[in-house]
Amino acid sequence: MQHRLQQFLSSLNPEQKAAVGAPEGPVLVLAGAGSGKTRVLTGRAFYLVAHHRVNPHAVLVVTFTNKAAEELRSRLRGYMGERSDLPWAGTFHSFCARLLRLHGEAIGLPREFSIYDTADTEQVLSEILAEHRIGRDELSPAALRSWISLLKNGGSLSGRNPLHRRAEELLPRYDERLRRAQAVDFDDLLRLPLEMFRSRPDVLEIVQRRFDHVLVDEFQDTNAHQYELAKQIAAPQNNLFVVGDDDQSIYGWRGAQYRNVYDFQRDLPAAQVYRLEQNYRSTQPILDVANDVIAANRDRQEKRLWTERVAGEKTVLRQVPRAVDEAHEVVGEIHHLRRTKGYGWKDFAVLYRVNALSRQFEEVLIGQAIPYTVIGGTRFYERKEIKDIVAYLRVLVNADDEQAWRRAMRTPPRGIGDVTLKQLEQEARRTGRSIGRVILSEADRSGLPKAAQNKLAPVAELVTTLKARTAKMGLVESVEAVLEASGLMAHYEQRDPDESEERIANLAQLVEAARDRAREHPEFSLSDFLAEVALVSDIDEYDETPDRVALMTMHASKGLEFPVVFAVGLEEKLLPHQRSQGTLAEIEEERRLFYVAVTRAMQRLYLTYSQMRYVNGTLEFQEPSRFLRDISPEHVRGWSLPGRASVRVTEEDDDLVAWHEESSAPREKQRRLMTGQTLIPYRIGDVVQHPEFGVGVVTAKSGGLDDLKIRVAFEGIGSKLLAVKFAPLKKLQ
Ligand code: ATP
Ligand code: MG
Repeated sequence: MQHRLQQFLSSLNPEQKAAVGAPEGPVLVLAGAGSGKTRVLTGRAFYLVAHHRVNPHAVLVVTFTNKAAEELRSRLRGYMGERSDLPWAGTFHSFCARLLRLHGEAIGLPREFSIYDTADTEQVLSEILAEHRIGRDELSPAALRSWISLLKNGGSLSGRNPLHRRAEELLPRYDERLRRAQAVDFDDLLRLPLEMFRSRPDVLEIVQRRFDHVLVDEFQDTNAHQYELAKQIAAPQNNLFVVGDDDQSIYGWRGAQYRNVYDFQRDLPAAQVYRLEQNYRSTQPILDVANDVIAANRDRQEKRLWTERVAGEKTVLRQVPRAVDEAHEVVGEIHHLRRTKGYGWKDFAVLYRVNALSRQFEEVLIGQAIPYTVIGGTRFYERKEIKDIVAYLRVLVNADDEQAWRRAMRTPPRGIGDVTLKQLEQEARRTGRSIGRVILSEADRSGLPKAAQNKLAPVAELVTTLKARTAKMGLVESVEAVLEASGLMAHYEQRDPDESEERIANLAQLVEAARDRAREHPEFSLSDFLAEVALVSDIDEYDETPDRVALMTMHASKGLEFPVVFAVGLEEKLLPHQRSQGTLAEIEEERRLFYVAVTRAMQRLYLTYSQMRYVNGTLEFQEPSRFLRDISPEHVRGWSLPGRASVRVTEEDDDLVAWHEESSAPREKQRRLMTGQTLIPYRIGDVVQHPEFGVGVVTAKSGGLDDLKIRVAFEGIGSKLLAVKFAPLKKLQ
């Protein structure tokens, strides 16, 4: 390991090296995007273990998103090799879940508590609203949830809105429901450890003794609770090593306080501060754009990124007539670059402000059979079938988990309707027990009407037997057993073939997820697995073919990097988002978000916007984002000097911005479609040619003229489903 460490250290620049080897005590690395903050952070962990011989288990590394945590783990593995004693690296939320699992009993939280996700929380809130006869149009569960979340994070509501009072009144009810179900929500995960530390200093001491060093990535996005947690655990030695960039703070709306970055030096006066300015990720032309964008923000500490990689492609700015063209042009460019420049699919990322923009890109990508993944989009664990099976697993682990019971006892359908549920709730209230306890105990059930008893008895029996069986099983076996015995597998097998196929594939995917976990951590229990399920939301973690184009929101892209980045939908109302245009602070946060997107690019950057787009069902004229005006004209290609109100693209400019010949092909097809020219009809047995997949034979077709899809068996590649409208196909015979 010594040799590896030397090798690693010699790959750093002097500032990075100084930060990695900083003396003990509080350290702040404040630096711009792509300057090696994450590299320094993971390098620090490596250095502590390899040079100072710190026990790897005494080093805690935390960040924000699951994707970023994965990146941390993979870098740590890269430096230190595959070994079981790597420092623990994960998100704040998953760290807190572990902390509570280990020590939560100190504040009366049972080991097997459940974690309620956003959907569970909203369900509880909508029940509370119904109990108080407050209509959805008056106060929606989603709005109530965000207010309650703010309150739980130590914030306060303005009180100007009379409904704010309501939220304050309902908060204790909500907390009581969670307590009864032995459940915590995402905010509790961060809040309860602090409460625990306050009331049980002995537990804090144990945790402090366990971790000698605390390292925090993306520090600019920590909220008050996270910051406090990190500080308390790192005390009394204050071996707190944080890295961040005030220009990349994008979670103000969730209570992040980027001023933490400045407060750190006030709170920990002994802090040593390091700055890094050399960027290693992007070429100078990309940095030029990034610097232009962020320079327009006022509330920041000035820093200008530079790189040794002065040469590079100029950023392309592209205006398209309609949103659908945007998707075609981008995908056309992806094809072109892949073919001519040797990129793989995974080298491309499409970044947008709101999730809804992914649909158009997905359609075109599907049509051309390009592998892609939507990160943080359709959440795997939010799928119905996955929630169903997870509900059973949750019931097995925590018999008080009310939301899980409600779901499990009614899927597959067993004739348990609202009437039974009401009776059950009444009985639960009368006996002061949770509905799960009432169901499971024959004595308690006997207080219910006969019909209800008859319906619930088999459920009770099923869960009791499963509990006994799975107690002796490993994780994977347990999941499989529950899938079979619950009747869920059979239930979904009987659905219509299309639906059934997908749902069963997803259920199988969950078993795979469990298998992966069991392989990595043989000691993983069902409740460990469930905690992860509640906190990890992307299926792509379990994806076997990682060579895919990545689609994600700009928020989700933080900390990641891609050779080619397309930032799309750069239009007013989308960016800055219409809900975030009220104050200068909001606009500045949106600008930082754009800066995050731009600085993900390593080699090529494309900025696109559409003149027209469907917004909530109506076709609207869009204005280019105001942020584009901050970019100096000489830093982009295809830029016609923007007027104040709109960007004009002349014939000549249009020529200039044409990316390459091929990109006009889909547009030509589009034109033919719009002018009523019919598409070539395909018959089964036709031989076709595709620029990517080569020559193939049509084996099946479906859909009408406008959405005709054909299945083509390509030589040496296999069968692909293609949308005729989009796929660049040529008929050969
Ligand atoms: P962000 O602000 O986006 O999170 P960051 O500051 O964390 O960025 P890193 O992700 O650590 O930056 O580094 C950006 C890229 O530069 C990575 O690919 C990293 O491996 C590379 N890099 C960092 N430092 C060096 C170096 N000294 N020599 C070569 N490559 C480096
Ligand atoms: Mg980083």
